[in-house]
Amino acid sequence: MKEQSIKWKVTLWYTFVVSVILSIVLAGMLFFIQGLENNAAKEEVSGKAAEFFGKIKFVEGEYQIPDEVKFYEDGVLISVYSEGGVPVEGSIPEEFPIETTLKDGCYQHIDGTKNKWLVYDSAHNYGDGKTLWIRAVSTTYGFEMVAHEIIAAVIVLLMLLTVFLGVIGYIMLSKALRPVETICREAGEISRGEDLSKRLTVPEVRNEMYRLSEAFNQMFDRLEESFETERQFASDVSHELRTPLAVIHSQCEYMLEECKEEHERQEVQIILNQANRMITLISQLLTISRCEIGSDQFHMEVFDFSFMADMVVDTLQESAGQKEISIEHKIEAGIHFYGEETLLMRMLMNLIENAIFYGKNDGHIKVSIQKREGYIEGIIEDDGIGIAQENLSKIWKRFYREDKSRKSSTNGTGLGLSMVKWIIQIHGGKIWAESEKGVGSAFTFVLPLRKES
Ligand code: ADP
Repeated sequence: MKEQSIKWKVTLWYTFVVSVILSIVLAGMLFFIQGLENNAAKEEVSGKAAEFFGKIKFVEGEYQIPDEVKFYEDGVLISVYSEGGVPVEGSIPEEFPIETTLKDGCYQHIDGTKNKWLVYDSAHNYGDGKTLWIRAVSTTYGFEMVAHEIIAAVIVLLMLLTVFLGVIGYIMLSKALRPVETICREAGEISRGEDLSKRLTVPEVRNEMYRLSEAFNQMFDRLEESFETERQFASDVSHELRTPLAVIHSQCEYMLEECKEEHERQEVQIILNQANRMITLISQLLTISRCEIGSDQFHMEVFDFSFMADMVVDTLQESAGQKEISIEHKIEAGIHFYGEETLLMRMLMNLIENAIFYGKNDGHIKVSIQKREGYIEGIIEDDGIGIAQENLSKIWKRFYREDKSRKSSTNGTGLGLSMVKWIIQIHGGKIWAESEKGVGSAFTFVLPLRKES
């Protein structure tokens, strides 16, 4: 799935909207300023034209331009045209298109290849019906340059302002969303640690985050409650089933002794096998529900882990021998561990029993228990049937069995590894499996050592 942070998304949107608003405001301002400057330029050319006309003298029906009158002043060039539009006096800018039509009282923007001009023409009657045209040309090039500089400065300012506001927005948003990140982190920790008794920190201020944390905490309360009920149910049922099963078991054993007929013996044996399987299942269920309750319920003490491991290997040598499997063990002596010995013994037995059961005849099992820097590392390796890669993560689930037909008639329950995992977890450790179908499996666990052990 595409990963997208709300922080980035909102910041991008906000920066985009802010930059659009700023652009519109600044463009409006520029437009307004430009309008003002244009008006000033128009007043300048028309004023110069009128000023020039005021200096012209009219003697006996003819006009005279005194020598001291200037045709160029303050960036405005004045030229005089006769009635027929023929230039008579004055000067026009270089490259200025001479054919530009004279229009009385009008402002014209003329574009040349390099320059732009603002032109103002005025027609004046003198003598008996003659007309004199005065053309004032202002080079607006200087103004345009200023305008370009202003525009460039405004664009740079706009970019800086957008970046600045973007950064400020991001910082504010990060601050505002920090409680959400805290909720995510804490909720993640609770779910990863599988400790449903933990709760989210509720903010002091009664805001949306407060309500969100409260809602999460209420959800955790309900979850914890329903898990508790489920566990209690499993534990109660297991306890209740223990006695009738023990009776069935002893009665079967008694009947086995009493039965004369072989086929009767076989049938009783089947009942006995199933009763044994159920006894194992119930004892595993009880262990799991104990593990789920937490470490307060356990009898934790420092014990000799190496001795216990040696004992387990010795006990299982016989059943390995039945399949002619050799167990090679490398158990470092004198490792002391703080934990519940019976549970850890069960854990190790389960792993080695599995290695024997799923091992091939005449195969090999390697058991290695070593003390490392701050932890115990245990590896149980076999060269048996192995586990398909896609099933490796499923083997830790309750009642999961890769090949459902294999152990069903004997004592396979599919609870063994989930119990092993619980035992490791309540001792603060980790366990994982590596395997290749047809080649073998290796189960590795690590258990953290306490300073005093
Ligand atoms: P089960 O009672 O079926 O052995 P477990 O929880 O102990 O239940 O194991 C779950 C499943 O994991 C087994 O059914 C088996 O498919 C697989 N498994 C466990 N250990 C091994 C192993 N050493 N080699 C191959 N498969 C194994």
